[in-house]
Amino acid sequence: MCYTHIPIPAGLVPPMCFCGDPCKMEMSDEEETFRRRYWMCANWAFDPLEKAVMIGTIEPPPLCDFEEWIDMEVKEKNREWFNELRDWNVKINAGIAARKKEEEQRNERIAEEKRRAAAKRKAERKVKLARARRAKAALQENPDALRKGKWPHCTQ
Ligand SMILES: [Zn+2]
Repeated sequence: MCYTHIPIPAGLVPPMCFCGDPCKMEMSDEEETFRRRYWMCANWAFDPLEKAVMIGTIEPPPLCDFEEWIDMEVKEKNREWFNELRDWNVKINAGIAARKKEEEQRNERIAEEKRRAAAKRKAERKVKLARARRAKAALQENPDALRKGKWPHCTQ
């Protein structure tokens, strides 16, 4: 269950949980019971790592399963609030998905450009290699060309 810690209002006496200790007050974050307050066991089932407590990530489960609702139904304004939050999340997620798709398309374009450039270089190398072979062959046919300061002529 998701919950949010809230301070106990003055005048409200927490009941005892099954452990025999005063309960803490929590508030539901779930749709069906959004922002309904309830009592629950204030003891932890185990000691959390100090680091987890510091960054507020891990909350160990309660030692006993005592739970008692304080608010018996979801307030209308909280129901509206939940719907707003949900709509907002839908919008945010749609935005994230759109940006992700854009980035994927951009990466695909870049990859395609790289493939094309590599293919072009390969084709150019092939042409240059053929030209070099022809030049070498021409030189072998006419070894005096270099000495006479005459470069072997090659077509294309
Ligand atoms: Zn308890």
